[in-house]
Amino acid sequence: MILVLRSKTMQTAKLIVITGPSGVGKGTLVRSLLQHHPELVLSTSVTTRSPRLGEVEGKNYYFVDRNKFQQMIENSELLEWAEFAGNLYGTPRLPVIENIKQGKSVVLEIELQGARQIQHNFPDALRIFILPPSMTELEKRLWGRAQDSHQAIAKRLQRATEEVKAAGEFDVQVVNDNLEVAWQNLETILLNSLPSSV
Ligand code: ADP
Ligand code: 5GP
Repeated sequence: MILVLRSKTMQTAKLIVITGPSGVGKGTLVRSLLQHHPELVLSTSVTTRSPRLGEVEGKNYYFVDRNKFQQMIENSELLEWAEFAGNLYGTPRLPVIENIKQGKSVVLEIELQGARQIQHNFPDALRIFILPPSMTELEKRLWGRAQDSHQAIAKRLQRATEEVKAAGEFDVQVVNDNLEVAWQNLETILLNSLPSSV
């Protein structure tokens, strides 16, 4: 996921990247962030993954097939993209660029490979890594979410071990143990980065 925030006084928009292993609570924290700060724009990604129960086209994701995704890559329509646990995910370029031009800060909630691409192309982006309190707790959350197959959870856990090792590449790390504490830490980081925007 990518988040863009707007500074009301300085009129400077920020690209905010939130990364962390699947199941760590990125979506939960970002939902809370947007509820408290509706001035932020959340980028909606494109994916070849099948929708989970309750997911809505255009809200959670734009769900496309591999051919369409490939076309988007070829037409340079994606700001970044990556393969994750057997599916493709990418950030549509135009809405992010337009929002930033309009002075709105944008949030991207994306995995590690995509975050690295953003770091390369947008060195001023604020990059936040969300860590689980332990791998055991991460596994518990993935099972507790009850929305992925046994095989999908296994792939996500395997990938999580690698992702967590890269946490130090990010500007800041937030441990999502107690949700309220994690949320407060995340908000403080944003307030410090964007003093007049949140
Ligand atoms: P992600 O977006 O990183 O894949 P989710 O936001 O979907 O993760 O969270 C995965 C599961 O963990 C959800 O069932 C969510 O309610 C739960 N969860 C999130 N944060 C916490 C927390 N701090 N403590 C316990 N459970 C949590
Ligand atoms: P899920 O299938 O659980 O929704 O997402 C799997 C992983 O893909 C998560 O880590 C999520 O942050 C990441 N993801 C979602 N959208 C994008 C995107 O546009 N680009 C990249 N690189 N990763 C994404």
